[in-house]
Amino acid sequence: MNDWLARTLACVWHPCTQMKHLERTPPLAIARGEGPWLIDPDGRRYFDAISSWWVNLFGHANPRINAALIDQLSRIEHVMLAGCTHAPVVELSERLAQLTGLSHAFYGSDGASATEIALKMSFHFWRNHGRAGKTGFVSLKNGYHGETLGALSVTDVALFKDTYAPLLRLSHQVKSPDSRLSWVGESAEAYALRACADLEAYLAENADTTAALILEPLVQGAAGMAMYPPAYLTRARALCDHYQIHLIADEIAVGFGRTGTMFACEQAGAKVSDIADFLCLSKGITGGYLPLSCVLTTEAVYAAFYDDATARGFLHSHSYTGNPLACRAALAVLDIFEDDAVIAANRKKAARFTERLAEVAAHPRVRHFRHTGMIWAFDVADAPPGFSAKFHLRALERGVFIRPIGATVYFMPPYVIEEPEMSLLAQTTLDCL
Ligand SMILES: *Cc1c(COP(=O)(O)O)cnc(C)c1O
Repeated sequence: MNDWLARTLACVWHPCTQMKHLERTPPLAIARGEGPWLIDPDGRRYFDAISSWWVNLFGHANPRINAALIDQLSRIEHVMLAGCTHAPVVELSERLAQLTGLSHAFYGSDGASATEIALKMSFHFWRNHGRAGKTGFVSLKNGYHGETLGALSVTDVALFKDTYAPLLRLSHQVKSPDSRLSWVGESAEAYALRACADLEAYLAENADTTAALILEPLVQGAAGMAMYPPAYLTRARALCDHYQIHLIADEIAVGFGRTGTMFACEQAGAKVSDIADFLCLSKGITGGYLPLSCVLTTEAVYAAFYDDATARGFLHSHSYTGNPLACRAALAVLDIFEDDAVIAANRKKAARFTERLAEVAAHPRVRHFRHTGMIWAFDVADAPPGFSAKFHLRALERGVFIRPIGATVYFMPPYVIEEPEMSLLAQTTLDCL
């Protein structure tokens, strides 16, 4: 019964993995899920401390999302969105517009495809405005926006990028506002503004050839949960206005409540539309159920494409664009946010979990303990080679599924985490350290 390991190694090419390493760190076979728990074929339970790669919000096998999907299955599972429309995609677009102030929604399937869509739309907007020379993109050092070729060219994570560099278009990276880089005695805000001067210097020279700035608002996830204050976003927006550059907010990881507000940009402006021309969403959008991504944008961007000429339109598509099942899961997720006042409830949960983590934060090997909304992270001093894999295995033995990024341990739990699980996470972390 338990030959899943051998069978997966024989035929499944796992993502983001050197397959040979699976000899030492075998993949965990999961048979079921229940709330924040993953359950293996023998019935052992593991707390999903990183929300299955940051996608799960309200637990596995959530009864409300399940019910919405079962209802949708009996109506229509999929229909193409070119030449057709359907209730879930219309309702989802209306509600996202309401939440963000960005009135038009274009759909894709994965986060990386949302990045591609935003980059292409920005470039095409300028071209439709007679400014075809604006072909460049600027992004933050250590930023991550996905791994298809266009997205990878604005990503700055060497491990993912270096091998494929010959295939990529050049883009420019400016100083990251990551608060860990501040000088001793310098506030996070002061450092963020200093980092913004680097962006300004670049735009002052290159505005004519730059279409957009793309960034991850407040938390650079794949960089190892690098966190920075909203002041950077406010200043970056002002610079983008001044130099006529679009701002693409990649909230694929941080959207849907992760940073303590529905969208991270809200911490810098009243609405997302005060900060961003484009908002990329995915991951949590369906509560971790189905692949769906979305790029929301402004009336002004939309209007630049609205024309009799076909070629001025945005001729981009994916087969599953606006899939009804995925949109229906997203609607169920928005219902849960509303019905359970999740943002307010999370604020209380976050405060309690931060308290539980006091001993971890004070541990002699812990550096830069940090926290934004429903994300906690710290760096481990003198982490030995292979630290991440070792920590992962030790935690698994204690019933916690967690995957450090290099020497950075982080928690990004589903929002259904409760007190006993907070204690389990804190104690497991202390034991592993
Ligand atoms: C995960 C992620 C992406 C890519 O999403 P995929 O669905 O993995 O393609 C892009 N940007 C950010 C900020 C992400 O965290």
